[in-house]
Amino acid sequence: MLDQLEAQAPDALLALIKMHAEDPREDKIDLGVGVYRTNDGATPVFRSIKAAEQRLVDTQDSKSYLGPEGDTGFVDALKPYIFGKDASMGGRLEGMQTPGGTGAVRLAVALAKAAGVKRVHLGVPSWPNHAQILQDVGVVTCTFHHAKADGTADIDALIETIEAAEPTDAVLLHGCCHNPTGVDYTDEQWEQIAEAFAAKGILPILDVAYHGLGRGLEEDVAGVRKVLAKVPEALVAYSCDKNFGLYRDRVGAFYMIAKQPSDLPAITSNANALARANWSMPPDHGGAAVRTVLRDGDLTKQWLDELDEMRARMRRVRARLAAADNEAPGLNLAALGEQNGLFAMLPLTKDQIASLREDHAIYMAGSGRINVAGLHAGNTDKFIAALADVIE
Ligand code: PMP
Repeated sequence: MLDQLEAQAPDALLALIKMHAEDPREDKIDLGVGVYRTNDGATPVFRSIKAAEQRLVDTQDSKSYLGPEGDTGFVDALKPYIFGKDASMGGRLEGMQTPGGTGAVRLAVALAKAAGVKRVHLGVPSWPNHAQILQDVGVVTCTFHHAKADGTADIDALIETIEAAEPTDAVLLHGCCHNPTGVDYTDEQWEQIAEAFAAKGILPILDVAYHGLGRGLEEDVAGVRKVLAKVPEALVAYSCDKNFGLYRDRVGAFYMIAKQPSDLPAITSNANALARANWSMPPDHGGAAVRTVLRDGDLTKQWLDELDEMRARMRRVRARLAAADNEAPGLNLAALGEQNGLFAMLPLTKDQIASLREDHAIYMAGSGRINVAGLHAGNTDKFIAALADVIE
């Protein structure tokens, strides 16, 4: 039986990590892996999370099972950050904890399918796992162009997609800090998106995986809130793995916004059933740490400061890259200054990407995606010079 399985293509990014690790050159640069890095190239545990974890160790008196909804204190504590001060949405909002943002996206798609969604529209390029999840859950994936060649969002492609959608279609959008392009919709475009969703009445699935890493905690969800203010129902997938630095602890949340409060019990019971069949319940530790941070004023302040520091550093790197356009012809980095989050896509050929790796020890995904946080004061000049060299 098992000998019938055909080998799957290996994860290209994991192969890249291995190649980078084995490269003896001291000035090598890793722009592949999608994690935040400090100016020293480290991905440390947040100080606020360390303190919260210590409190958990000291006070947690049981590790008995929770339900499929996980730590409801964690789910509730995040709400005002995502949905604003009046986070109740008139009793139409319910959430649950998930294993990372990945679990939340999977649950969103599976729940949409259970409710009758047949096709999901996805802007491309996207986080590769979006398409994998859509396929694995068993909905049809339809694609539209996310970004234009000038490094801004292709709003027309999205609006046309929404306007032409069938009633059993859903649209999956990145809330902020688009992966892999860094290209987000502007506030005005989000307004248009909200109107289009409202006019058409199809289901938005909003994936917020980098909240606070773009322009600011409020700014990064302003678009999502515009949509939620206009549409009758929506699903939101949320990750705490970047903005609390919890990656391997797998911390996410899934929120359901119903047409009316009386719809929520049936919706959440379906989500709970799907969660039970998939993972029974989410891992507890990271969510408990986030809850501990958000329920304590001092730890919250510390977390906000840590997030500010990360965001400011990425903005500095982006500004430096954008300014480099004056230094060599053809770099085309100006748009990166306007884009958001960890990622950007450079329009490089396979040969140029290979040359960056072989001749300059610079490692990036084969798609041309770079992790902006892999750059810092000590290596950005080298990166810009190498780029100028390969595109000459
Ligand atoms: N959505 C997007 C757009 C992502 O880029 C990612 C992760 N890189 C996720 C969801 C899932 O995040 P997590 O690690 O919390 O599963």
